[in-house]
Formats: sequence, structure tokens, C-alpha cells
Amino acid sequence: MHSVVCVKQVPDTSEVSIDPETNTIIREGVPSIINPYDLHGVEAALQLKDKYGGKVTILTMGPPQAETAIKRALSFGADKGILLSDRAFAGSDTLATSYIIAQAIKKIIEEEGVDLIFCGKQAIDGDTAQVGPGIAKRLDLNQLTYVIELDDVNLDKEELRISRKLESGKEVVKAQMPALLTVVKDLNEIRYASLPDMIKGAKAEIEMWGKSDIKLDESKIGLSGSPTQVGRIFPPPQREGGEMISEDGEEPTESAKILVEKLVGIEVIPNK
Ligand SMILES: Cc1cc2nc3c(=O)[nH]c(=O)nc-3n(C[C@H](O)[C@H](O)[C@H](O)COP(=O)(O)OP(=O)(O)OC[C@H]3O[C@@H](n4cnc5c(N)ncnc54)[C@H](O)[C@@H]3O)c2cc1C
Repeated sequence: MHSVVCVKQVPDTSEVSIDPETNTIIREGVPSIINPYDLHGVEAALQLKDKYGGKVTILTMGPPQAETAIKRALSFGADKGILLSDRAFAGSDTLATSYIIAQAIKKIIEEEGVDLIFCGKQAIDGDTAQVGPGIAKRLDLNQLTYVIELDDVNLDKEELRISRKLESGKEVVKAQMPALLTVVKDLNEIRYASLPDMIKGAKAEIEMWGKSDIKLDESKIGLSGSPTQVGRIFPPPQREGGEMISEDGEEPTESAKILVEKLVGIEVIPNK
């Protein structure tokens, strides 16, 4: 059982701010974390390895410092880390990013075979949720998005059954492997890293693949291969807090009276 987990290093969004001049996220001095959804992909892959044996490969595209994210993922018990990093990849939009990652996975498939690919539902910085489906489409794989349960994996039949989160419930889907899954946080509880795995992760040698290590059409990568134009990026306006109409110790009838007074004048549209 070989799972590849796509892990993105993202800025810790509780501290993100935007440069109003350049319309870009200020990353300097901002701590980086693994995209939280991706950790659930790592956990799912590790649970499959615990059950069926095999291997978990972590794949990240990013600058050299994204190696830290791979080492963290390895500290949970993953086996191998590959960092896709090259100046030529800089400025890639989601189209170019998913192309580069798909080509890297193609190489892994050719060299050692892959059963499942895990991505997070979305990255908490870019937030597009396009990269997972983009990879699946390019590799012509079944894509199972918003996965909340891995119900059954049948390695003999190369089949899996999963549950997808829907707005009003869940959908159970059976699919042929290899497949790509994008996962949500409900899928599992992330394990604690064991001390031996933490040491192994910290010491691990991460393979670095640049543009010459993967079969790439250079017109499809980097800024020149990215058709997306970012017009403007800005934080949403701060929400104003709601008004409290009930003071401590106030009688509920008094609060209700104040509420009614406030509502008077608001147009009421009767039910038809
Ligand atoms: C014109 C343009 C230029 C850009 N230039 C840059 C730039 O120079 N540097 C930069 O950092 N970003 C840049 N970006 C942002 C970059 O395109 C996105 O961060 C990237 O494509 C991922 O999109 P997303 O964050 O919406 O991920 P989503 O699609 O929301 O991510 C879904 C899942 O895909 C996987 N995934 C996504 N990205 C990666 C990754 N890099 N490695 C491994 N797995 C991944 C993860 O599993 C993740 O949970 C640029 C974007 C545009 C539009």
C-alpha cells in the first residue's frame, strides 16, 4: 500500500497580514505550519500503513524552507519526503502548481506505483481547493473530495469505499484505486509523534526535485505558465460586535421591551 500525501507549508493564518502596496501576503517573520487539513491526510495514510503495511511518501512544493513541513510530517511516521523546489516554480498559480505536482506524482507512479493520493480539502492561505482536483484531472484518476470516512479499502479488488461530507448529510462512494482524496478534519484524530519517529524525522534526508528531475513543459510552470491575474487582495472589513440589550440583573420582560422598541420601524414582510 503506497500513499502519497501532498502537504503544503502555510503561514499561521492567525498572524497573517497583507501588504497594501503589493497586494501580497506578508510572510516575513510569520511562523509557518503544515496546512491543518493536510495533517489529516498524513494521519489517514499512516492508519492505512498500520493496517496494510507499505509506505507513506510526503510531497511538498515550495521554497527550501518547506523542508521543515516535510520533516514534521515524517515525525508522525511517514517514510519518505520529496521537496519540489526550483526558482522556475516561483509565481505558479493553482494551474501551474497542480501541473508540477501531478508530473512529480507521475514519476513516483512510474518508479514505484501509488495506490492513493491524499490532499487537504483546501489550503488555509490560498483557499482555492483547486490543487487536489487539478492533480486528479491531470493524472486521470478518480477524485473523491470532502472525505470524512475511509470506510473500506480492498487491496485485492483495488477498490475503496469512502463517505463524503455534504451540506445536508453524507454520500457513500465506491471507487477504483488509484484515486485522489481531499480530506476534511472530521476524518480522524491526528496522532502524537513518538520520540523515535521525531528523531527519525529530524534526521531524515529529504529528496529535492527541481525542474530537471521531472518531465515538465516549461511553458506551463512558474509565473509565465500561470494565467491567473490577481487584481487586488485585501482583508475583509472587521465585523462590528452585536449590541447587548440585556444588562446583568435586568428582568427578561424589560429586555424583551427594549428589543421590541428596537424592532419597531423594521419592515416586517408577512409570510405568504
Ligand atoms: C499569479 C499567482 C502567482 C502566485 N505566486 C506564488 C508564489 O510565488 N509563491 C507562492 O508560495 N504562492 C504563489 N501563489 C499561490 C499559489 O498558486 C497557491 O498557493 C497554490 O497554487 C496552492 O493553491 P491553494 O493555496 O489555493 O491550495 P488549495 O488548492 O486550496 O490546496 C488544496 C490541497 O492541495 C495540496 N497543495 C496545495 N499546494 C501545495 C503545495 N505547494 N505543495 C503540496 N501540496 C499542495 C494540499 O494538500 C492542500 O491541502 C500564486 C498564485 C497566483 C494566482
